[in-house]
Amino acid sequence: MRKTVKFGGSSLASAEQFQKVKSIVERDAARRFVVVSAPGKRFSGDDKITDLLYRCQALRASGASFDAEFQAIADRFTGIRDGLNLDLPVEAEIDEIRSRIEAGTTPDYAASRGEYLCGKLLAAYLGIPFLDAATFVRFRDDGTYDDEATMRRAAVVSQTERAVIPGFYGSRRDGHIRTFSRGGSDITGAIVARMTESDVYENWTDVSGFLMTDPKIVPDAKVIETVTYSELRELSYMGATVLHEDSIFPVRKARIPIHVLNTNDPDAKGTMIVPDSMATDKEHARPLTGIAGRRGYTVITLTRDNLHAEPGFAYRVLGILAKNGIAAERTPSGIDTISLVIDDKRLTGKMDQLYHDLMVECVPDTVEIASCIALIASVGIGMVRNKDVAARLFQALADADVNARLIDQDSNEMNIIVGVEQRDFERAVSAIYHAFA
Ligand code: ASP
Repeated sequence: MRKTVKFGGSSLASAEQFQKVKSIVERDAARRFVVVSAPGKRFSGDDKITDLLYRCQALRASGASFDAEFQAIADRFTGIRDGLNLDLPVEAEIDEIRSRIEAGTTPDYAASRGEYLCGKLLAAYLGIPFLDAATFVRFRDDGTYDDEATMRRAAVVSQTERAVIPGFYGSRRDGHIRTFSRGGSDITGAIVARMTESDVYENWTDVSGFLMTDPKIVPDAKVIETVTYSELRELSYMGATVLHEDSIFPVRKARIPIHVLNTNDPDAKGTMIVPDSMATDKEHARPLTGIAGRRGYTVITLTRDNLHAEPGFAYRVLGILAKNGIAAERTPSGIDTISLVIDDKRLTGKMDQLYHDLMVECVPDTVEIASCIALIASVGIGMVRNKDVAARLFQALADADVNARLIDQDSNEMNIIVGVEQRDFERAVSAIYHAFA
């Protein structure tokens, strides 16, 4: 058994958190590859080291002093070192980072040093070798991640017995440090899990797994024990977040499950994210896995008698969207109607032209525009086998006095999308949750 374990910023925010991490790693000899974020917030209102590093670089670039911010960074790292009674001369590394920022280094280099120093400290504390991600995570010259070049270096990692590896960054061919987008240590963890052919990728955070719905709407929402990659993708797309979106792809390809666990409650079961083919009868029997949603959509509905029988009508509508550089989220249609569900952000500054083009090129009988719409995705692979999911869902909405303005179901029958007025959003999510939880 071989495991890659990744610890997030709050799991490494202080010496006490480092102690929890050590006991988790040492409890299971299979936990051989440890990927770290930079120290995060210790309490609400605290600073994340990554934010401070970005700030130092930006202050320097604008010619301002970054002394106070840098001192806070230095204090955090020496504080962790001293709190753990480690004999590691981090001061030399800290001075080096300071001089590089002083000399006008890039935001990427500055930001990456949080993970770098955190990795150095944890490696010393665990007594495991430190392996710099810059030696194997490769970025192209244009700054995008290069998976092929990275995987060609897999042996750098897979041939080591154990290692602590800083997340979030890698390097370009010329040696320049480059980072992923924020939260990107999740991606490094997934890459390492794939390179080492780990049996599981454990992602340790400060929540006990992936909740069935947003706890801001349903405070006691249950943890989902097992979710498939496809279900998670649908839910994350609609706003549910635990992991960095891109961290799914490397492990999904290699069919490695991700186990989301809580450093502050290590005995909690957490959530297992598994390849679809590994879903058991239990998951297939479950009518609904999770509910996620987002506000901020506009629905444009074109009506014309018998438009479904008119060859090329939908083609013209989609062509107009393409011409205006707008992607529609969904395009439910009927005998006489076609609706375009569009994220408001994509419509900014484009509505007038779009409306004009639709009127002139499609000549509809009517065009109706509904704004302030929220979409709710009710997701579950078990939906296919359960007969009454839609009935229960719509009954729950009716009982909660919510009017479903739009209904759409994915062709893979795993996701029922309902559009509601934004003011009904929370009530609708809560009603669906309680109908199935
Ligand atoms: N430290 C980086 C951030 O705050 C990356 C990470 O934590 O995954 O975004």
